[in-house]
Amino acid sequence: MLLERVKDSRRVPASHPLAGKKVWVPRMSAGASSAIAAILRSLGLDAEAIPESDSETPELGGRHTSGEECYPLRLTVGDFLKILRKPGTDPNTVAFFMATGQGPCRFGQYVPYMRTLLPKLGYEGVTILAPSCEEGYSDFGEASTLYVRGAWRAIVSTDILSKLLLKTRPYESAPGSADQLYEESLAEVCRTLEISYRTNAEQMEAVRECLLEVRDRFRALKIQFDARRPLIGVVGEIFCRLNTFSNSELVRRLEEFGAEVWLNDISEWIWYVNDDQFRRMQLQGKSFSLEALGAHLRNHFQRKDEHALVSLFKEDFLGYEEPEDIREILAFAEPYLPPLGANGEMVVNVGKTVYFAKKGADGVIDISPFTCMNGIVGEAIYPRVSRENSGIPIRNFYFDGTQSDLERDIGIFLELARSYNRNKPYSRQLPRSYRDTRLARAAAAQSSG
Ligand code: SF4
Repeated sequence: MLLERVKDSRRVPASHPLAGKKVWVPRMSAGASSAIAAILRSLGLDAEAIPESDSETPELGGRHTSGEECYPLRLTVGDFLKILRKPGTDPNTVAFFMATGQGPCRFGQYVPYMRTLLPKLGYEGVTILAPSCEEGYSDFGEASTLYVRGAWRAIVSTDILSKLLLKTRPYESAPGSADQLYEESLAEVCRTLEISYRTNAEQMEAVRECLLEVRDRFRALKIQFDARRPLIGVVGEIFCRLNTFSNSELVRRLEEFGAEVWLNDISEWIWYVNDDQFRRMQLQGKSFSLEALGAHLRNHFQRKDEHALVSLFKEDFLGYEEPEDIREILAFAEPYLPPLGANGEMVVNVGKTVYFAKKGADGVIDISPFTCMNGIVGEAIYPRVSRENSGIPIRNFYFDGTQSDLERDIGIFLELARSYNRNKPYSRQLPRSYRDTRLARAAAAQSSG
């Protein structure tokens, strides 16, 4: 009944605070932001991902921050102001969508900061939309359930697209073909997600069909796999790791220098936040509360949806499997940052670094904004992680918008990765289509010689 109403109206009621406004979704990751905007459109909202940042973004953001905030906040402020300063923009018709959190870092301050800054600059009418699970996503009114389920499917689908792109692009036969296919696939996923389906099952069926088509198109793309490319795992602060402007296109540059990248995805962070909620409830003696029941149900449906989508790619992701459960990652982190005593992305980053080593990666890079405590804590621990994991090279790359000799640093790091590759104890599972090719035999001869 509820779903029918949302489908039929396709517009939020006039009394809703978002009625008549355009919702802009920050571009943390281009794929996920576009897909979340599509889900918002499916609820009847006018929504779009914020366009890619450019040199004006940090410049504008820098004018309205003190320099002590995190780099992602500076970029977000800059991107928001660019939208508001566009000629003809009425601030009363603008809403910004922002994720929020209660963790130990400055991220939880972004929303209060924006809510203070924008009125100070004369943009009183702007709405900051910060749906949180603590408030039951009440910002979306009766469409909250649709939003939660759809947003999760959007995240899982775009994680899959990103993984397909990164395992394909370094080996493409025609330059630019993987990027082009990725863009077309993302557009197709967004077109699928923006439809208002009558039921959740219908939405799932449509997304699966769309992803099957995407999968077959990626399988058909001409590539030439080469096992001599070092495989580099990339962990780090979620915004800087995924936002290509903020990290100066580090992933693409690693590929240009001859590497393949395995990037930590967004869903892993959601699993960590869910698991953390259970740990907190346990500490507060709420393990058998209504809140706990709700969290278990959400986990159940998220797991089910993730399995339904990721299982379509079982063959494609051989050798790139993500852990079945986030607790696998937390167990790897336990000797360094016990999850009951430490909190935040640093725990996931350290645990995932060990996981990457065991999956046969040749090195791990941690991307963080300058002064981010997650990066700083990780950097202090990585030498021990490396020592205890057969010497795998691990390096932090910090970003704050200033120039550094990135290419020199990448070159040095990849030399270390190549030399580790020759003696590493964990072998990497290679794609099935490659194993009997001439290149495979040449690579095997080279490593045995
Ligand atoms: S993770 Fe780091 S960069 Fe991100 S909000 Fe927290 S302190 Fe800032």
